[in-house]
Amino acid sequence: MGSTSFSPSISLSPSLSPHSSKFPNPSPNLFLRSHSSFTPLTLRSNQTRYRFKKLPSSNAPNFLVAASAKAEPLKVIISGAPASGKGTQCELITQKYGLVHIAAGDLLRAEVAAASENGKLAKEYMEKGELVPDEIVVMMVKERLLQPDSQQRGWLLDGYPRSSSQAAALEDYGIRPDVFILLDVSEDILVERVVGRRLDPLTGKIYHLKYSPPENDEIASRLTQRFDDTEEKVKLRLRTHHQNVDAVLSVYKDISVKVARKCFMKYYCLRWQRVNI
Ligand code: ADP
Repeated sequence: MGSTSFSPSISLSPSLSPHSSKFPNPSPNLFLRSHSSFTPLTLRSNQTRYRFKKLPSSNAPNFLVAASAKAEPLKVIISGAPASGKGTQCELITQKYGLVHIAAGDLLRAEVAAASENGKLAKEYMEKGELVPDEIVVMMVKERLLQPDSQQRGWLLDGYPRSSSQAAALEDYGIRPDVFILLDVSEDILVERVVGRRLDPLTGKIYHLKYSPPENDEIASRLTQRFDDTEEKVKLRLRTHHQNVDAVLSVYKDISVKVARKCFMKYYCLRWQRVNI
């Protein structure tokens, strides 16, 4: 992979720079910079070594992940409560790294839209804000992960696993990510985000009626709302999320990065950069 530019607005502090003595090895690395504690993680695969760092930031509100060229495709899992910003981050991450974005919720909604047997059953659970049974979800996700594009380009798995049994199923298949990212956003703002969230079915763009309103009346008139984006349903979905998140986190604790933010959607943005080291 070729070199890419490094944003001058974000710089690693000299003592933590990849070129400093703390990073003497010029092998491929991936760095994550966040506002929180400094927690290094070093991961090895056959030909590639990834090193994940959480670096204390100065006053920059954003995060930085910097990765060099790598011999093997990257595998990432991202998790977070409804409306925690997974969609925005997934877009940034997939753009930067060329990963295949696999969202369990999207796969399920496609089944619902196709009115398949699995889709009809899944909808009953989705309407209650509950987890769809593993019999449906596990195979669906596994098959998508094993498609040639995911294998060649690497993948970003979003919204799976959501329970210890789902995580265990992945482990049983020998599927393990390089990093597990948890977006941790306070609950009070999540409900507001969900209730105001709208989708433009033409462009796929997500809006928020208050914080990211549509550009004009034409777009506004065609916006749709997900059937489970109501206050009543989001509270159920949040409860399900909180019941399961710790169990999932424990499976990946050696490779997990928890990103806690307490700001509104428009300021809440991970920034991803790749550098050649
Ligand atoms: P959100 O996480 O914002 O609620 P998603 O689109 O990821 O939205 O999921 C929508 C619904 O699909 C969930 O409430 C749940 O019913 C179902 N679902 C998604 N992912 C899974 C999963 N891994 N296991 C079981 N059910 C799932």
